[in-house]
Amino acid sequence: REGWHSDSSDSVISSSSDSEDHVFKVILLGEHGVGKSSLARIFGGVEDLHDVEEAGNTYDRSVVVDGEEACLLVFDIWEQDNTHWLHNQCMKMGDAYVIVYSVTDKASFEKASELRIQLRRARQSEDIPIILVGNKSDLVRSREVSVEEGRACAVVFDCKFIETSAALHHNVKDLFEGIVRQIRLRKDSKED
Ligand code: GDP
Ligand code: MG
Repeated sequence: REGWHSDSSDSVISSSSDSEDHVFKVILLGEHGVGKSSLARIFGGVEDLHDVEEAGNTYDRSVVVDGEEACLLVFDIWEQDNTHWLHNQCMKMGDAYVIVYSVTDKASFEKASELRIQLRRARQSEDIPIILVGNKSDLVRSREVSVEEGRACAVVFDCKFIETSAALHHNVKDLFEGIVRQIRLRKDSKED
């Protein structure tokens, strides 16, 4: 995987929350079973641990995008405990958000819209990068949400869109690189 080099993976939230500034916090949101942990593990470089149900994990890793290094801290903690407190924290703490649904599960797609609305409420005046992700694109025969529906939803909600397959590692790298680009675009426009 050219362009990716792993520093450390799987660090605990409390131990790696400092050194700020060039570390971007990315929060994964979405219903249970859509593939959040699978995507996060691929990013973290621990893809061999299949189907391990973990309470919550954070992965930090530096990625070279367009010739420049960026550190992402990816939080897979949305389902760690389903409390209002945690969900509010998640809505507040991110520099960018990945809202995941499964293309095989219409209900998870509807939930993604809800999450987008919640996020907008929580971060009203801020322009935060949000990527809508339709995962499980490999499951062609059980697809319930078309690419067009996903794309249209992203247009309505003013966010980026990508379909991925964690199972095939398809578009996962593009997803995380896209996040870095989105964050940089906003930073650059602020500095002008
Ligand atoms: P989470 O609850 O959102 O963290 O979802 P998981 O990452 O635990 O994935 C739920 C289930 O879907 C697991 O059995 C995964 O192996 C499976 N899964 C995740 N991503 C994909 C994918 O892209 N394609 C297929 N076929 N299965 C996937
Ligand atoms: Mg999970």
